[in-house]
Amino acid sequence: MADLNSAQQAAAEAGNGPQLILAGAGSGKTRTIVHRIGHLISHRGIAPHRILAVTFTNKAAAELKARLSQLIGDDGGGVVSGTFHAISLRLLRRYAEALGYPRSFQVIDADDQKALVKRILKQANIASDRLHPSYLRGWIEHCKHAGQTAEQAPACDWNGVDLRGLYHTYQQQLREHERMDFSDLILNCVVLMREHAGIAEALQRSFDHVLVDEYQDTNPVQHEWLTLLCTGHRNLTVVGDDDQSIYGWRGADIRHILEFERIWSGAGTHRLEENYRSTAAILDLANAVICKNEDRHDKCLRPTQEQGVPPQWKVCNDEYDEARKIAVQLNAWCDMGYAWQEMAILYRSNRQSLALEQILRESSLPYRIVGGVGFFERLEIKDALAYWALLNRCGDGLQLLRICNRPKRGIGTKGQEQLAALLSASGLRAHEWLDVVADGKAGGAAGKLVPIARLIVSLRDEIGNMPDRGLMELLERSGYLQSLQAMGEIEAAGRIDNLHTLQRYIELTMEQELTPVEFMDRAALLQSGEEDSRDNENTVTLMSLHRAKGLEFDCVILPGVEEGLLPHQRSLDDGEAGIAEERRLLYVGITRARRQLLLTTARLRRLFGETHYPLPSRFIKDMSPAILQHDMPTPQPMQDESEAGMGIGSSVCHPSFGEGVITDFEGAGDAIRVTVQFRKAGIKRLMLKYAALQAV
Ligand code: ATP
Ligand code: MG
Repeated sequence: MADLNSAQQAAAEAGNGPQLILAGAGSGKTRTIVHRIGHLISHRGIAPHRILAVTFTNKAAAELKARLSQLIGDDGGGVVSGTFHAISLRLLRRYAEALGYPRSFQVIDADDQKALVKRILKQANIASDRLHPSYLRGWIEHCKHAGQTAEQAPACDWNGVDLRGLYHTYQQQLREHERMDFSDLILNCVVLMREHAGIAEALQRSFDHVLVDEYQDTNPVQHEWLTLLCTGHRNLTVVGDDDQSIYGWRGADIRHILEFERIWSGAGTHRLEENYRSTAAILDLANAVICKNEDRHDKCLRPTQEQGVPPQWKVCNDEYDEARKIAVQLNAWCDMGYAWQEMAILYRSNRQSLALEQILRESSLPYRIVGGVGFFERLEIKDALAYWALLNRCGDGLQLLRICNRPKRGIGTKGQEQLAALLSASGLRAHEWLDVVADGKAGGAAGKLVPIARLIVSLRDEIGNMPDRGLMELLERSGYLQSLQAMGEIEAAGRIDNLHTLQRYIELTMEQELTPVEFMDRAALLQSGEEDSRDNENTVTLMSLHRAKGLEFDCVILPGVEEGLLPHQRSLDDGEAGIAEERRLLYVGITRARRQLLLTTARLRRLFGETHYPLPSRFIKDMSPAILQHDMPTPQPMQDESEAGMGIGSSVCHPSFGEGVITDFEGAGDAIRVTVQFRKAGIKRLMLKYAALQAV
């Protein structure tokens, strides 16, 4: 407790009953949670396995575990911690049968989910211009986040299509394949507790204390999950910061934290007011940004660190210039003695990583990307896992269909449909059905699968002795590895490399005596894009702002602080609420930094195949040069004295077009023509002499 200030200590030692810790960024909320857990174990005699700690990301869960073991040694290992998804999956493995699922059900990943939705729309003869598959997926997700099953979803007619009916079909098909999607994990847990009083009670009795970090981002179904779980003992501790709520687009509802005291009567409330993370200069900037949001709990956040160097803002020509400036900055920080792993580039859109990656690679800077196309989402890894699961008796129909024609076995779309029908009619699991296929008794298109089915069935007798449980042997003998060669030598080598990585990963997991089903669970949870085998390497981290929640780095770069990216174009459609969430996102980004912070803006950006001339973000206006050092390339001066100070990159105002930024000019003297990107009016070329532009 000596590591805590008095407010943190009070929260850590608070007695039973609901507790709310509402405080700003870097005020030690996560540290307090860790100490509270430590206190429960060491002073209050609670067994570690009776404490449940819920975090938002796998990374945060790992971090919590690490901090706990540091604090209380091995005992920390017994605390049940994980994301809502991971914990739900654990619970469902025990109780899925009550929902009519086998315990060995699998989680469907985003790719397969997309394919399934497309297939459903195709079967129903609904063209994508009438109902786009992604809209349907989004709608179903939305219902699930709100805690609505297909039966409870509101009736919704979209261009004459019954969305609720399609939600039904989707669930039916998932069930047929014995799959749940990510949102199902949480919703199904809730359904279990709603409908089975016995199970609800058993779950409530499994834990004495439940603690939740980043509570500001819970959505209604997660809220219900917690409520059902804590109804008996009411020992629910939540910590969060309403200013860091950035998942509204995924149904998170900030009211859960703001109304916690009303929802949980008698709750203890704790406020932490000292920031231990960032220099005062960084904190000033963060406060200047967030205080412009209305409708927030006004929080006091005092710095405890020194003033530090002012954060900087650099304007760049385009995304490559931006990436090069970033590389220069990273090198400069390295020369100052900062380690690569203490530097992070946090962007609004994963697409921004393209130029960054290219330049960082050219500059031989060590970096890693968190998120994006994750390891487990790669084609060869998914194929290999499908083979492996079928071999290890946990593969399902989707996996069988995935590999039935890889390598080519002459099974086209029709053949696949036939296989699906045969499998479904057999009433067997896909891996069981392979026995029938191997005996040549399945008929139809399954005839083409006889050799592979025989190979799998015969290999099953041997896998017990293989550290990778038959992975490479099967890929080799099935002709899969050979088929990769068709992609060209270099491409194939990269993919085979990945397969060896998978092999090592399986071997390691098997050494920990996990079952194949448990291995598949682990892979499924990591698919949400967070896997990180290189966590301990000394590399610069690149990730999206959304993923950076809760983390901290000495040096942070926020590229693309410009209109269209931050705030994001999409958020503009949501009006004030959308902008407010973008502002919070920027606040999250700024408050990740301990000592050094750089914001950048590009004047030209190629994104999604289009060229944009973005304006600096509206949020820059809230950061005066007194707190954000503006580093504009000196405007190439336009000779005329009266226009002094105006040049490329200058912000200007036009009597009828409004605000804009000069992106180019040509000519001299009276003949100067400027190109201006206006916030509302678009790009205009104007004669400077007559344009009546005012510098702003
Ligand atoms: P976020 O809002 O970003 O999730 P947080 O409130 O969870 O932040 P922590 O990550 O717990 O904050 O703490 C921020 C930093 O301050 C950490 O490096 C932590 O070790 C340090 N810290 C927290 N409390 C104290 C304290 N009382 N004394 C010294 N350092 C502290
Ligand atoms: Mg935290």
